[in-house]
Parts: sequence; structure tokens; C-alpha cells
Amino acid sequence: MKKIVAKFGGSNLKTIEDIRKITRTVERYERPIIAVVSAFYGITNRLTSGILECRDDESRIVALQDFLREMKEDLISRCIRDEDTRRQTTAELGARLDDLRRVLLGVHYLGEIPPTVHDRVLSYGERLSSFLLAAIFRDSGIDAEERLPEDIGLYTNGELRNASIDFSRSEPAVAEALKADTVFVIPGFYGISPDGKTTLLGRGGSDYSAAAIARCVHAESLDIWKDVDGFMSGDPGMVDAPHRLHTLSYREAAELSYFGARILHPRTVEPLRDQGIPIRIFNIHRYREGILPLSVIGPEPAPLLDTNGADMPHRVKSVTSSHDFAILRLRGSGVGQTPGILGTAAVAIAEAGINIKSVMTTQTSINIFLSEVDIVAARGEVEKKGLSAVSLIETETDLSAVALVGEGLSECEEIASRLVMALSNAGVHVKMLALGASESATYFLVRRDMVGTAVKAAHAAFFAVE
Ligand code: ASP
Ligand code: MG
Repeated sequence: MKKIVAKFGGSNLKTIEDIRKITRTVERYERPIIAVVSAFYGITNRLTSGILECRDDESRIVALQDFLREMKEDLISRCIRDEDTRRQTTAELGARLDDLRRVLLGVHYLGEIPPTVHDRVLSYGERLSSFLLAAIFRDSGIDAEERLPEDIGLYTNGELRNASIDFSRSEPAVAEALKADTVFVIPGFYGISPDGKTTLLGRGGSDYSAAAIARCVHAESLDIWKDVDGFMSGDPGMVDAPHRLHTLSYREAAELSYFGARILHPRTVEPLRDQGIPIRIFNIHRYREGILPLSVIGPEPAPLLDTNGADMPHRVKSVTSSHDFAILRLRGSGVGQTPGILGTAAVAIAEAGINIKSVMTTQTSINIFLSEVDIVAARGEVEKKGLSAVSLIETETDLSAVALVGEGLSECEEIASRLVMALSNAGVHVKMLALGASESATYFLVRRDMVGTAVKAAHAAFFAVE
């Protein structure tokens, strides 16, 4: 029988009640699944600030260790009934926290954080989750075992902080290691470099871990458990009467994630595409309803149907927004036609490890879209190049991108007019608009303080409230 990989994220790991829900869910599958788990809610952020504090102040090491110990011991005492299991789990917790303490002491005495140590420290959030959950599952009578990425051969390309999985190396090893009919519990967020070091898969990377494992074992599905009702036509906190999206294509899910929908990490689809493994989204708070997916994402473009099952006239399936867009603008009277300017700037930015989100150019200005956190560094890199055709380099922040997503959207001519009309009626000034950049996404930029109005108006334009 094919396996199912189920991922439980930080949003499912907030309270004791959440842990109980996860345990019941694993039982409800009534078959051995592979559970990939994140750190408990907020723990990765706590480790990120903790490592800096420990570098500068030795007393923070014990404080961090105590904080983690108390939290986990509370969990052990409230979720594990069997005395022996409790004792063993507490001892193992102590051993893992001692490991962490030694690493942090190293950081303190060095006075700096070597990148390999950074990745190792941040992986502890997940390492603590996996072994605790495996123990809790066993205590509930589930035949469960923890397996670490280093045990199963989940190898990466070795890049620190933001590695990619090396599938040619990982596939045979992982498939072999996870063959048995046992529930395996695996920490997400990291894999192992070719020389055996912990390498993180980028923030929010547990989804990508789970997808990578699903691919390695040729899974039947990748099940992502969240605390919301799957993909919607708009953020329920921002739009009126959003609809649930029962089916989405890989492309739609990837575009929505890229433009800010927080349901999936944008890289989740990548490993699954070749084998067409479906992604199913569930809400942990509805665990009593059984294993019933709320949204299913697969290779086929899904038709857009209204509630009566009829094809809808437009192809917008969802409206989403992201605050993480800023512009680096290179001005000059002929930058659009001078060969090499964009190339030089893009190479300088890429060599600094910064990702370019998009580019729009005219004859007198080149606009490079970046993540807001990268804008200062990117500007510095481009300035260093001393490009003579560029007379002014400026940055623009406090922007938001709003995207419309739906297969075939770029072929549908009335979308632009409807959108622009709705935005202008709502008094939204559109700063830039990109139509047709992909067949399934259109997006525009607005001032951040207008994003709420823009999303609401765009959603209402395509999903009339009856
Ligand atoms: N714990 C990691 C993070 O917060 C990975 C994840 O949750 O997916 O980024
Ligand atoms: Mg996450």
C-alpha cells in the first residue's frame, strides 16, 4: 500500500489540546502514516533571537534551556500517562537540551555564530517536537517511531539556511528507511548536507520537507493539517463572503503562496509535480469529521464552478495579498535601451544571495521588485557597480502586492477592465499592474495603507455577494 505523508505545522502545535487533536487524527487514519512535524508555535522565532542573546550573554543559555525544558516537561506530564514512558522521555529531553546547551556555549565563547551552528540550533525546535510527539503517540497505543533526516538520508545540496533537497541521493535512501508499517515521526525544516551537517530548508520549510519525503516514498497524498478551512477565494479577515476553493491546480496553489497566502510554503508543489501527488488541506479543529480534505491541489487545472455546478464566466479563483514587496528603481534617460544595466544589477543582487521577485522596465526606469528586508542590501550592491547610465537609484517601500489567481486568467480579456474599474470606484490608486506575466496570475502594487480596500474591492468585483 502507498503511504500518506501528513504534515502538522506550528499552527497545530500551540496547546495541549492541539496535541490531543493530532494524536486522535493519527489514529483516525487507521493506517501507518509518515508524520512530518514543525517546531511548536513560536519556537523557531524564540531560537532565532535566543542564539543572538546567548552569543552576547552566557546566562541566556541556561535561561533558554530552562524555558524549553519547562514547556516540554509540562507537555510530558500532561500528555503521557505511562510512568516508564514519562521517565524515558524526560531523560531523552534532558539529553537533547544538553546537546543544545553545548552548541550554544560554543557560540558564546566564539563570540560569533558560524552559519552551520546557526542552522543546527534552529533545527532544535523541530527535533524536540518529533521525539515528544513520537512518545505521546506511543503512549496512546500507536506504533510510532521517530526518525531524523540524518537517519533516513534526507540529503540537501548543502546550502545553509535555504537548502534544496538532493533527490537523486535522497530518494532511494528515504524510500528504504521508511518502508516498515510503522507511524514514523520526522522533524521538518532541515536536511543533511553531503558532509553530514544540518542545513535548513528556509523559513516555513517544513511543508517542503514533507513534500520532499512524499516524493521519495511515492506517497498517495501529502496531507497538510492547518488551523483554517483550506484555500479560500480571499482572506476571511479582509473580504466579504469568501468561498472555499475545493480544488486548485499546482500552479494556482504555487502562485497564491508566492503572493502571500499563508496556507502553503511556495516550494511545496515543486517535489510533487513529476509524480502528480495530490496535496490535501485539512483543518485540525475539524478532526472529528474524519479524514475529509477541505481543499485538494493536483496537477489538473480544475474548472471553476459556481455552487450549482455551472462554469463561471471569469477565471479568477482567489485574491491574495503580500506586504513583502519593495522596489529598487534605477533611473536614467536611456536605461531601458542600454544593454547590460539590468544584467549587471541582477547579477550583483543575486551574488549577494538576494532573490528578485519581478522586474518592470521602461526607457527611463528599471524597477526591480524585492523583499522589503533585502532592499537596503540590494541597493548597496547595485551602487557598488557604479553604473554610468544610471543617474539615480531610489527605493520605494510601504507597498503591498495584490494578486488575482486562476488558471487561464491571462486569456480572459474582461478581467483587467473589471479589476481597474472596481479599484477606481473604490478610490484605490494602482501603482503598477502586471497582466499576463503568467497564465494564472495577475498582480498590482498599491500603497500599503490601501491594501485592505484594494483586496476587498478586487474580491467583490469577481465574487458578487448575493
Ligand atoms: N519552524 C520553522 C519555521 O518557523 C519551519 C516551519 O514551521 O515550517 O520557519
Ligand atoms: Mg509553517
